[in-house]
Amino acid sequence: MTKQALIIGGGIAGPVTAMALRKAGLGVRLFEAYDRSSDGVGAFLTLAENGLEALRVLDLRDLVIGLGMDTPEGVIVNAKGRELAVTRQPSRTLRRGDLYGALRDEAARRGVTVEYGKRLTEAAVVSGGVQARFEDGTTADGALLIGADGLRSRTRRIIDPGAPRPRHLGLLNTGGFAEGVRPPGRPGVSYFVFGRQCFFGYLIHPDGEVWWFANPASPKEPTAADLAAVTPAALIDLFRDDEGPMRDIIAATPRMLPAWNTYDLPTVPTWSNSHMVIVGDAAHATSPSSGQGASMAIEDAVVLAKCLRDHEPPEAFAAYEHIRRGRVERVVAQGKRNGDGKAPGPFGALVRDLILPVVLRQVARRGALSWMYDHRITWDEATIH
Ligand SMILES: Cc1cc2nc3c(=O)[nH]c(=O)nc-3n(C[C@H](O)[C@H](O)[C@H](O)COP(=O)(O)OP(=O)(O)OC[C@H]3O[C@@H](n4cnc5c(N)ncnc54)[C@H](O)[C@@H]3O)c2cc1C
Repeated sequence: MTKQALIIGGGIAGPVTAMALRKAGLGVRLFEAYDRSSDGVGAFLTLAENGLEALRVLDLRDLVIGLGMDTPEGVIVNAKGRELAVTRQPSRTLRRGDLYGALRDEAARRGVTVEYGKRLTEAAVVSGGVQARFEDGTTADGALLIGADGLRSRTRRIIDPGAPRPRHLGLLNTGGFAEGVRPPGRPGVSYFVFGRQCFFGYLIHPDGEVWWFANPASPKEPTAADLAAVTPAALIDLFRDDEGPMRDIIAATPRMLPAWNTYDLPTVPTWSNSHMVIVGDAAHATSPSSGQGASMAIEDAVVLAKCLRDHEPPEAFAAYEHIRRGRVERVVAQGKRNGDGKAPGPFGALVRDLILPVVLRQVARRGALSWMYDHRITWDEATIH
């Protein structure tokens, strides 16, 4: 009989894991806490070349080519409008909601229907497998359970009640889609501005819309009131002394996204037990500044499916962790460093303006980040444990 996996979470890791497991010959059921109307939530995200190539393993790369835009170049400027550096790295930037919707539609086309309104509350190892319990009182039985349930993963706590809580990164996030404004620049280039008080990024979509985000500093973990205080007017004020189009872009945004806090999870000591395992943000959430959250979730999905193709749990989970842990923790550390550079203070800003151009030139020349972007997963190669 086909082994049945219960997958918790219909974000990115969930549907991709579902499709990868099907390719590996397993049966799947996919459960999502919210209803489908939450698909549009969020701003936009970047799929790096390593994530796009992991999608290719599952014949999913073409799915995202029709969405968003290619963003192969980044231009970094300071608060005076001086260009500090240009970076070149293939990537695709998409609306988060479009990616979620496309992945879930494609999963459905491949026979995996998301079961909505199913919030996991408990899971227990029972004879021959695992039983999941949902908030609506229903249960589901399977041979194994995969927690793709994001930053606040319930599965993580079921596996290890002492699992670490997400770490506050000291930066908030907000953004939006501006209309009828023409900032300087070319479509498909990511512009990053080190404002005196706030980091800002924007992209010009070929249709003229401007996609943007801002990272106000928040040394203390913000309360709901602190988040609510990040209004368009307050944000515009943070850029009052800076050169650049930030104030015009914010003012031209019909609905700025409510600010949210950013977190990461540098090390989650326990990823699995005999029948349950975590993937994606549940296991290793990374700062948005890494640009790798979605790509890591996709890589996890492919690797876990290969391990379940080649081994039974818990050996399959051990093989998956062995392959993935070092890489994802390195990405989380890199994301933290990127984020820390966004709110350096006046002296730090001076030093940054002097050394960043040199450092980024050296990074490019030496291929210092090739470990991150050039990583490739091949489906046919066996996983060794
Ligand atoms: C609201 C939000 C906005 C974001 N915006 C951006 C962005 O603009 N740019 C960017 O780069 N990254 C963004 N991220 C991060 C990025 O989306 C993640 O790195 C990436 O999605 C990781 O995929 P994942 O599937 O592991 O987690 P997620 O995409 O977070 O998916 C987890 C899924 O599990 C579901 N879930 C949670 N708990 C349960 C439960 N108990 N039972 C059942 N289902 C459950 C959630 O509803 C969600 O659909 C955002 C994340 C969130 C949550």
